Amino acid sequence: MRETARIALQATARASADHAGDDERNPYGSPFVPSRYAADVRTEGPFRALLDCDVVLGTTDDHSSRAILCDLAYAYGVPVIDVGVRAGARAKALNALAAEVRVLTPTTPCLWCREVISADVVREELLPPAQREKLRRERYLVGSTGQPEPSVVPLTVLGAGLATCALLALVSPDGQDAPSGYLVDGFFGDARPVGPTDPVDGCWCRTISWLGDDAPISWMSDATVNVDDSLATSR
Ligand SMILES: [Zn+2]
Repeated sequence: MRETARIALQATARASADHAGDDERNPYGSPFVPSRYAADVRTEGPFRALLDCDVVLGTTDDHSSRAILCDLAYAYGVPVIDVGVRAGARAKALNALAAEVRVLTPTTPCLWCREVISADVVREELLPPAQREKLRRERYLVGSTGQPEPSVVPLTVLGAGLATCALLALVSPDGQDAPSGYLVDGFFGDARPVGPTDPVDGCWCRTISWLGDDAPISWMSDATVNVDDSLATSR
């Protein structure tokens, strides 16, 4: 999914009971009202806009936006459905079309628990562009920050569909039996749960659990990309 953090807030679903009057129903008559924000979730205003949502679908590619969405899920208890896709190759030929879903709630493992995101990559993403480019030229970057990633449209559609399925499971009674993390390979047709099944002791998500505004969240400046090494080094 070649979205950047600039459009990190892909879609949110606001529950119906308290909010949806006739004027809040979507064109299909459903009381679920999706919202779309063209903003950077790593800045405080857009982040706080998500606090009014019941569920957030996160489909960003970078680590820093995923780190902030983790904070949303664990410090404030807003469920986040994170989805990632990856096309694999062997001998220069396609051999994997993997889409992975992670449901982030205060009782499930976060993306740090799952080692899906890296503090080093978060730090790199938040560097000023000139400094990041310098490190890239010197081959000091750990991640592929700012570089093109392979993408296949059917894989993106698979990931979007799985995220929506996870949303339906989240609001269904039997959904409590669904794994919080699973991978589907559209190439071989494989599907399997992905661990860990429980949050990791001592993880960042345990530290900020339900702290709300008392959690030390490191937003970026609204104006420019500010370096905030503390975001990376504190985790
Ligand atoms: Zn964690």
